Amino acid sequence: MTGGMYLEKRYAVVGNPIAQSRSPEIHLAFAAQFGDVIEYTKHLVTLDGFGAHAQAFAAAGGCGLNVTVPFKTHAFKFVDECDDAAAAAGSVNTILFQPDGGSRGCNTDGVGLLNDIKYRHGVDLTGASVLLLGAGGAAAGVVLPLLNSGVAQLMIANRSKDKALALVAKFETIFAQKGVLSALGLDEIPSKADVIINATSFSLTGGSVPLKPSVVQGAFCYDMSYGKSAEFCRWASANAAKYSVDGLGMLVEQAAEAYWLWHAKRPNTEAVMTQLKRLMAAPEHG
Ligand code: NDP
Repeated sequence: MTGGMYLEKRYAVVGNPIAQSRSPEIHLAFAAQFGDVIEYTKHLVTLDGFGAHAQAFAAAGGCGLNVTVPFKTHAFKFVDECDDAAAAAGSVNTILFQPDGGSRGCNTDGVGLLNDIKYRHGVDLTGASVLLLGAGGAAAGVVLPLLNSGVAQLMIANRSKDKALALVAKFETIFAQKGVLSALGLDEIPSKADVIINATSFSLTGGSVPLKPSVVQGAFCYDMSYGKSAEFCRWASANAAKYSVDGLGMLVEQAAEAYWLWHAKRPNTEAVMTQLKRLMAAPEHG
């Protein structure tokens, strides 16, 4: 059977762990909007098994993969070519397997975050001072889109400051404007910022909010975590943030961008947000 028989049909999300992923529900809901018939499954992959799994999926006719923790860097190394966002971040969350056998890697996290902040929450980042907490894969994916959205300051604060320094060094070579980017340790965080984005996984690793409560007062706070894990969102809200949201919108928007890359169709994300919130509010889900 040739791979071509399955073209435009089989998709999956790959991660470890993967049980918590909502990507299948989201992509199947998008597909239903257009009457597209697709298969979208979750794949748990061993920590050293990403490349072999992706190769086997493509060989069996798979058309595209979404990639989540901890494989985004593995995916970047795996693909034959990638878009500018993925190249800048060194991280791929969407792979397109092409009919000629090649693979293209993209990173839709940045577009997802920016679309959610700007269009769903109506926040204009022009001239804003932004504090980005974390320097892992998710943070790396959003640095360039944040810089390109006209922020006055982008401070990257991380538990291990060397990782924040490395991110800043990398993006300073591609972003011409000087004095916008800075790297901080968690003990160097300023007393105020207009926008605070949590891109750490402290709520998954059993840590606590790496900030003093006074920093979030009056700020727009965005937690990339969502659902039960959105501890920063709830904490910021309890500590007088101006506005505090979780990362469900980013999740749906990055998926919509992946859908666009795979199918050249723009789904209605608002309808899927509503469906997803209802699903997550059900007692058996989180
Ligand atoms: P990584 O493992 O690549 O990075 C984790 C980051 O969190 C590092 O900066 C790490 O710091 C920091 N960290 C972990 N534990 C603590 C702690 N106890 N205190 C302070 N800092 C801590 O993960 P990702 O970047 O891929 O993901 C980060 C979060 O973003 C996850 O919760 C993920 O679910 C979420 N996410 C949401 C998306 C969405 O669409 N809504 C998309 C992508 C990610 P250090 O370097 O010092 O270890």
